[in-house]
Amino acid sequence: MKIERNISLKKYNTCGIDVLANTFIEINHSSDIAKLAKQYPKLPQPVYILGLGANTLFTNDFKGTIVHINTKGINIVSEDDSSIYIKVKAGEIWDDFVTFCIHNNYYGVENLVAIPSTVGAVPIQNIGAYGVEASDVIHEVYYTNLDDAKSYIINKKSCNFSYRDSIFKNKLKDKIIISEVVFKLSKHPSFKLNYGQVQNELIKAKIDNPKIEEIAHIIRKIRSTKLPDYKINGNAGSFFKNPIISIKKYNILLEKFPNIVSYKIDNFKMKIAAGWLIDNANLKGYKYGDAMIHSKQALVIVNNGKAKGEDFKKLSEYIQKRILEIYDINIFPEVIII
Ligand SMILES: Cc1cc2nc3c(=O)[nH]c(=O)nc-3n(C[C@H](O)[C@H](O)[C@H](O)COP(=O)(O)OP(=O)(O)OC[C@H]3O[C@@H](n4cnc5c(N)ncnc54)[C@H](O)[C@@H]3O)c2cc1C
Repeated sequence: MKIERNISLKKYNTCGIDVLANTFIEINHSSDIAKLAKQYPKLPQPVYILGLGANTLFTNDFKGTIVHINTKGINIVSEDDSSIYIKVKAGEIWDDFVTFCIHNNYYGVENLVAIPSTVGAVPIQNIGAYGVEASDVIHEVYYTNLDDAKSYIINKKSCNFSYRDSIFKNKLKDKIIISEVVFKLSKHPSFKLNYGQVQNELIKAKIDNPKIEEIAHIIRKIRSTKLPDYKINGNAGSFFKNPIISIKKYNILLEKFPNIVSYKIDNFKMKIAAGWLIDNANLKGYKYGDAMIHSKQALVIVNNGKAKGEDFKKLSEYIQKRILEIYDINIFPEVIII
């Protein structure tokens, strides 16, 4: 366990925000999680568990303790004719695990390629993309509770997964450290290809019966054209969650905005594309300090160089205000602002 004081977090968050952490602890071995949990009451508070920082916006120097999870390991725990169970340490890079699955023809995570994340953060907001959510493949989650320093295993059902949400963002928020996640992957292909852009790319490439690598390649390609590279222009991906509204409200909006982009959830609710709301409000390119709404992807706020976390925050508040004024819809950040 490495403990440092007053270190810059610039390389530990994908928005590239340069703030200092009072205390910074890097965890390289799973056994250190239990040790840290025992010391937890004595650590400078608050304590924030940090993976890649791809969903974290720092707005100030952090007065407490940052615990950076950097444990590595991918292990097959069991398998049968149809499924394979793989236990992955929390500090593994998600895309390395996805690549491992693709190379070995373990099916289920191919649509989730190229999402910047540590494995431990994956269940927190139940990451999702192109019609697949992490909850489709999570079997169980191992965690240590910081209050009693004990270790627990929670099964998928008890994780209460929903759209960008889980028990870890609610009842267990800031109380636990996820140490490992067990994924259940299929040994037989069963692809989810109903996402329009993926279908179009398959048609363009004249692929009728895609292989797992072809799907991953196409999704990587779509993502690289749609999303700015955070290594060049710092960002945290989609800044806002897509709002969910009633069908009644949707029908009223549809009259005023016939092009509104939406997805039906059920007979009562519609999910509205937050990116469309922002784009249609002519906010692309709008800036606050060095934080800017990306000129191609309205849902992403980018760091044009020297943006402060406060610039991102102020800009996001302005976006929320305009969306409420124009559409009477509240949108909420997907990014954790601290
Ligand atoms: C360019 C870009 C594209 C993105 N695309 C997508 C996308 O397609 N779909 C999607 O869902 N998300 C997307 N995101 C968001 C981001 O990838 C996910 O939220 C990801 O899971 C964040 O992982 P992280 O390790 O960086 O988490 P962090 O930002 O470090 O932490 C996020 C939260 O998880 C907690 N946490 C992290 N690790 C642990 C642990 N081991 N135990 C307990 N708590 C922990 C933190 O305390 C915090 O609350 C994107 C982000 C970027 C920058």
